[in-house]
Order: sequence, then C-alpha cells, then structure tokens
Amino acid sequence: MGRKSRDKRDIYYRLAKEEGFRARSAYKLLQLDATLGLFRAPMRVVDLCAAPGGWSQVVARTGCACVAVDLKEMAPIPGVFRVVGDLTARDTVERIKAMGGADVVLCDGAPDVYGLGDIDAALQHRLVEVAVEVARDLLVPGGAFVSKVYRGPRSDRIFRDLRRRFSDVVCAKPKCSRNASLEAYAVARGFGSQDARGGRGVVPFVACGFEDFDADSSYPLRLFPDREYAYRDPVQMPINPTHLAATTSHRRHIPDEVEPLEETAARPSPPPPP
Ligand code: SAM
Repeated sequence: MGRKSRDKRDIYYRLAKEEGFRARSAYKLLQLDATLGLFRAPMRVVDLCAAPGGWSQVVARTGCACVAVDLKEMAPIPGVFRVVGDLTARDTVERIKAMGGADVVLCDGAPDVYGLGDIDAALQHRLVEVAVEVARDLLVPGGAFVSKVYRGPRSDRIFRDLRRRFSDVVCAKPKCSRNASLEAYAVARGFGSQDARGGRGVVPFVACGFEDFDADSSYPLRLFPDREYAYRDPVQMPINPTHLAATTSHRRHIPDEVEPLEETAARPSPPPPP
C-alpha cells in the first residue's frame, strides 16, 4: 500500500500528522472532551496506557498537569511526566500513587490484538478492571474515569461496576472510532458520590464528534480547494516497537550460513545403490 493511500483512507491518521499529534487516537479524546467536557486547567490527569502519547498531548494542550504511564517508552512531551511500567504490577501503581491524587484518570489500554474478538475483549477487560482499581486509589471525590472498553460478554459487568462507584456513567463512541471496531469508551463522573446507582439501570449511549469527519469514509488528498496536499511523515516514530523485537528474535533462529539453493542444485547426485 502506498504512503498516500493511507492518507486517503484514514482521515484521522492524516489529520494527526498535519496537526502535530503522535496518534490518530488523539481525536477520540478530543471528541469525548468536546461533547462531555472533561478537562479544566489546572486539573491533574493520570493517563494510563499512554504511549505513543496522543492523549497526553491533548491533555497537555488543555493546560492540565499529566502523568503518563505505559509499558513502552514514550518520547518527552512538555508538561507530561512519564512513568514506564506495567499497569498490572503493584510497584508501578505505588510509583503513580506516590505522585499524589488525580482529578481525572484515563485509560486507552489495549493488549496486542490477536484479531479474535472474544480473546481480545477478555484481555482488554482485565486491563480496564485494573485501571478501575488504580482510579479508585487515585481519584479525588467527584473525579472522573474515562476508559476504552471493548464490547464483549464482560463489558456489561464493567459498566455495572462503574455505576456502583460513580454518579454519572455513559457509554460513548467518538466519530473517529470506526463502526466495525469493538471499542467504545466508558465515561464515569462523580467518583464516590452518594448518587451512585448501585450498578442498576441502563447506561446511556452518547455519540461524540458527530459533525466531524467520518472514520469509515475515504477523502480526496486535496481536502480543501484553497490548500495543496503534501505528504507528511508521522510526528513521532515508535521507540523500540514490538514488531522490531519480534522480527529480530525470529532472525535469531535462522542460521547465519544457509547454503544457497543454486549450489544445492548444482551438486552431483549420489551414485545409485549397488
Ligand atoms: N492513548 C494512546 C495514544 O493516544 O497515543 C494510545 C494507547 S495504545 C492504543 C494502547 C497502549 O496500551 C499501548 O501503548 C500499550 O503498550 C499499552 N499497554 C497495554 N498493556 C499495558 C500494561 N499492562 N501496562 C501499561 N501499558 C499497557
């Protein structure tokens, strides 16, 4: 696939490059914020599963303080404090807690996807459950929790659990999230409130960024008549990407000296048995 072809087929990938975001996912948080009003400086925000840093960039642009946590290393962003660690490990959680409480906890966590709906959803739900526990430790009364949740057999349980702890819980789908994608976002506000509903009731669905570009449509390269199209490289290439480690470890199993095929073909056949 050509470089320009993705620019045509994925409008948010292209916009991210043009507007200085490291990941198209930045638009998911922008659209959630535009519809639901999540950030007001000088809030303190903890961004779990933050790499490569699109959401942290959005938070930093609102003027809120941000602590970004991920298994992977993340290139610096002004105003963002980075922690490299596994969210499911106790020492990572202790390191985050030592930095103080939070007004908003975000989690866009997703394990490496297998492309098998139920397995992907089960792994992702485990990550959300851990993020909810971390949020419970960090959030100030009235604070908010925003998390990606893959739709699957256990997603109802996650929303029920959030309703027990927060007064206002909605299921949101930003316009830049493709229709075919399993993902939706839980947005839970009013942490620890007396009005929490004990897990009962229907969780309202909110479509966010309704008037924005459609993630499922292709757009011409020349988007605006008064502006020429120019290809741009991504804003930040991944640091130590997983696929590189995988290809390197695969190569270790290939012997350095492999006999070229032509030589094998040229070798004389052994004499016939007597
Ligand atoms: N919101 C990010 C952005 O805008 O750039 C994108 C997040 S990406 C979809 C999911 C991230 O979850 C990956 O960077 C991955 O390393 C991280 N992740 C998955 N499991 C994790 C874990 N156990 N602890 C910390 N991070 C994890």
